[in-house]
Order: sequence, then structure tokens, then C-alpha cells
Amino acid sequence: MTDKPLKKFLHGVMEFQQTKTKESKSLYENLASGQAPNCFVLTCSDSRVLPLYSSNSKGGEVFYARNVGNLIPEPTEEKTKSDVMGSLIYAASHLGVKHFFIVGHSDCGAMGALLGGREKLKHQKLLYWYLEDGEQMLQEYRNGIQEKYSKLYSEIDNPKTKLAIFNCQYQCRQLLKYDFMSEKVKEGKIFIHPLFYDIKKCEILAMDPEKEKFVSLDESLIEKMLKSVGEN
Ligand SMILES: [Zn+2]
Repeated sequence: MTDKPLKKFLHGVMEFQQTKTKESKSLYENLASGQAPNCFVLTCSDSRVLPLYSSNSKGGEVFYARNVGNLIPEPTEEKTKSDVMGSLIYAASHLGVKHFFIVGHSDCGAMGALLGGREKLKHQKLLYWYLEDGEQMLQEYRNGIQEKYSKLYSEIDNPKTKLAIFNCQYQCRQLLKYDFMSEKVKEGKIFIHPLFYDIKKCEILAMDPEKEKFVSLDESLIEKMLKSVGEN
């Protein structure tokens, strides 16, 4: 935390321009006329989650969308006009992105707000309205569906983190409610992957299909994931 946030931010921009962008000059010159990313990341807007650095990606490789709680709305006409759906439609239908990652994270404030009761946020109308997108997910979590995924939470006590893990899986299923996604998934043109960012470890975890929980990425898990999409 700094007492001069604007100064720190602007100096950061200046330092980035003086170092990183000069190092990547030819990359950005090539990117000036277009992009062809292969990956899409939807993650929470939380300031502790830094998807670009967490995956060591360069400009042009990953298309991003962020919102509070990494929530996919129900496919109603009103909700489909949301920012996150615009980004998803553009990435899937126009850019032809192949891999879609929903990245949840530990200690998610949106999950805490949902668990604490959305009613308490009625005085903050927009936030109250926005978090409606998480209500169905919370209901399923509380209705016992979480038992089906119980291995996901073994060793985890933080209620916000437990719900964030469930939410991450739930939002991957939620994406399939949209025809533009489900049709391409059936055709094997799009793959959806849940990932989980552990803030304390500063580490992205991936789903191990055999252990049925999120674990640290290693060569053997990467092999399994590549095999499942035919990229090995
Ligand atoms: Zn969050």
C-alpha cells in the first residue's frame, strides 16, 4: 500500500514503456495490424490476480475478460448484452479462440458477498443487481450439488475459497448454456478449462481429472491435459 498511488502508477507506466516495450519492440510492431490469440481468460477483477504475469504470456497471446467473481450470466436477452458476453462472443465467433479458461481465486470477495447474503447490498443497487448472476450458483452449492464435487474442497477451510472453487467449475458448465459455445465444444473447436489461482502460494492450479481436485501444474498433469485436447 502506498500513500501516493497516482505517482506510483504513472511511474510504473513510464518504467514499463522504457524497459519492457523496448525489449518487445518487434513483437508489438507485428501486433499493430491485428491479433490472433489462442487463449481466452475470464477471471475476477480482484487486484491480486494477475493473469498476464501468472501465465508468462506475451501481448497478442491471451484475450481477457474480467468481472467481479468471474460470473457468466444466465442466457437471457438482457444479460447476453453484458460486457463479459460481448468479449466471449467476439473471442469464440470472430477470433476463433480455441482454449477458454475460467480462473477462480482464493479469498474471493464476490463469493464472500454472496455467502453473506446479497440482501445486505440492497443499498448498493448496481452491485446487488450484478451479483444476481451468482445466486443460481450459490443455490446449487447449498442444495447439496457440492457433495458431488466434495473432493474439490478437501484440505480447504475458507468458506469463500470453497465457494470460489465450486464457482469456477460451475461457470465452465454455465458457458455451455450458450449455443455459440456449446456447438463449438461439441465439434472439438473449443475447449473449456477451469483453473484456480491460490493467492498465498502465488500459483495457478489446474484440475487433475484423476484426483478430482485442483493441484499444482507439473509435467505429468500438463501431458494429461494436452492429451485430452489432442495437442500432445
Ligand atoms: Zn474475486
